[in-house]
Amino acid sequence: MITVSNKCIGCGKCVPVCPFAAVQMIDKKAVMNEACTFCGACVQVCPVDAITIEREDPIHKDFSAHKGVWVFIELEDAHTKGKPAKLIRKVGRELLSEGRKLADTLGEELCAVVLTDKNPGYEKEIGAYGADKVYLVENSELVEYNTDVFSTVIVALINRHKPSVCLYPATIMGRDLAPRVATAIYVGLTADCTALSIKDGLLLQSRPAFGGNIMADILSPNSRPQMATVRPNVMKLSEPIDKVAVVINEDIKINKNIKRVKVIERKIVHDKASAKIENSDVIVSGGRGMKDINKFKVLEELASSLNGMVGASRAAVDLGFKEKTRQVGQSGTTVSPKLYVACGISGAVQHIVGMKSSDIIIAINKDPNAPIFNVAKYGIVGDVHNIVPKLVKAVQKRIKK
Ligand code: FAD
Ligand code: SF4
Ligand code: SF4
Repeated sequence: MITVSNKCIGCGKCVPVCPFAAVQMIDKKAVMNEACTFCGACVQVCPVDAITIEREDPIHKDFSAHKGVWVFIELEDAHTKGKPAKLIRKVGRELLSEGRKLADTLGEELCAVVLTDKNPGYEKEIGAYGADKVYLVENSELVEYNTDVFSTVIVALINRHKPSVCLYPATIMGRDLAPRVATAIYVGLTADCTALSIKDGLLLQSRPAFGGNIMADILSPNSRPQMATVRPNVMKLSEPIDKVAVVINEDIKINKNIKRVKVIERKIVHDKASAKIENSDVIVSGGRGMKDINKFKVLEELASSLNGMVGASRAAVDLGFKEKTRQVGQSGTTVSPKLYVACGISGAVQHIVGMKSSDIIIAINKDPNAPIFNVAKYGIVGDVHNIVPKLVKAVQKRIKK
């Protein structure tokens, strides 16, 4: 609950800072309307401490009104002419696939949240991955991601509809947005979850902890929504179904003045060097066992013969064999290609968490007991420096046929 005491001197400082246009000056006194989300921005600027926000005791709070599993849908630039300007990122479909299972277990709806300047019909793709509804906010201010604007809109939607679970992609955007929302509404957030399930009606959020040596299970019993981020390529995509999600058009007033960052110029780079490893169908990764940077180069030949990209373990990155953007694993990128070839990689748990959901894993290692063989479909015990050149020749021979 928000109250303005008699100390109010009618200075009006609280009016422009409110992201939701929730403050009106009536009879020279500030009055907050129902659009208030209790964000606290006005409290900070009041020179006479006239504004008080009282929050309910979370332990005894009644969460029965909170229903629905929400997935924040991140849009990315389409690189194909003739297609809509922005497309749904694959991680959004992955989160919907996982969200559907959670919603079914809870007996609640699965809802997507889309913030855009123009909806070309996202509800078809969103419905195909199981969502019942799309909360759609269409506004010219949403053409470009902006932390202040997007977090403000999400907070307003959460306060309006009270979901029980909110999932965000652990992308650059999601990692910026989710914590901002969490602090605005005083709820917890578990970052980089690798597994989600329902336990006694609560979201069980599992993620590696203590350097990846243990899995931590996290519950948020005292706050709603329960919020988590999940990296791309962690959750499996479900088979698309013939369903169109129901669009709920949301009218949210956006205060342009809350933007503290302005985009001056956008450059979209499409060269090969900027290609992202997580989008490659084939990855040939090398580890410390590749011995040196020159020997590592043979992996480029194998990868390009297979139309794929080269990845690396952290040890290989630390040794300078490959750039950090190609590191696969817990502190690198999570990948899920059709084919993952691990060359001279031992299979430490921090590496495995980043590639174990690949369709087919082939491991080459001279140590028959290397843990990488536990996740590999095909294992070759031997010296990478003998085996990889032979593989390159064999692949190139097949291509020529
Ligand atoms: P090693 O473990 O040294 O393995 C080299 C392997 O090469 C051995 O199995 C050996 O048998 C084999 N080999 C040697 N010579 C040959 C040869 N001639 N032919 C065939 N095989 C050969 N690691 C990651 O990869 N990604 C991460 O994101 C990551 N994040 C981390 C985060 C934290 C917080 C911590 C603590 C660690 C992280 N690590 C990560 C590091 C991880 O624990 C391992 O140290 C690392 O994965 C080991 O890399 P590697 O397998 O290349 O090297
Ligand atoms: Fe506006 Fe936030 Fe103050 Fe409510 S708490 S009136 S939303 S600034
Ligand atoms: Fe009143 Fe404080 Fe708002 Fe000024 S900032 S109008 S004193 S509530």
